[in-house]
Amino acid sequence: MVLPIIKYPDPILKKKAEEIKDPKSPEIRELVLDIIETMESNGNALGLAAPQVGRSVRLCVIIFGGKKHILINPEIKSKSLRKEVMEEGCLSFPEEFFMIKRHKKVKVRALDRHGKEIEIKAEGMLARAFQHEIDHLNGILFIDRK
Ligand code: ZN
Repeated sequence: MVLPIIKYPDPILKKKAEEIKDPKSPEIRELVLDIIETMESNGNALGLAAPQVGRSVRLCVIIFGGKKHILINPEIKSKSLRKEVMEEGCLSFPEEFFMIKRHKKVKVRALDRHGKEIEIKAEGMLARAFQHEIDHLNGILFIDRK
């Protein structure tokens, strides 16, 4: 089901999202599918976090290079000292784009939708998307990083 996107300044976007206890529950499985459909119906968005569809739980999806990264309870385990500045957008801020500085590389640990621990190394655009979406789970928005 395509879900409505929560727009800034809705207070849910500033809340720290709750940890997911059971990644394999039917509710979470359904939410993952809904988030993917919502991304597809919004011009194949690069990333979307659960709080942006009104669910304050630690889940985000990034679709990049044809690959879906479904991250449950994700954490950034390490990041490069080197940063880079690029233009970013966010579905919660329609038509707004800002130059944002992010770490060039990150290593992320998360659970996948089977509850299995995964670790992903990313750089460039994918690393940026991970940082943007994980920020959402901590109530941090890209305008906070301008
Ligand atoms: Zn965003």
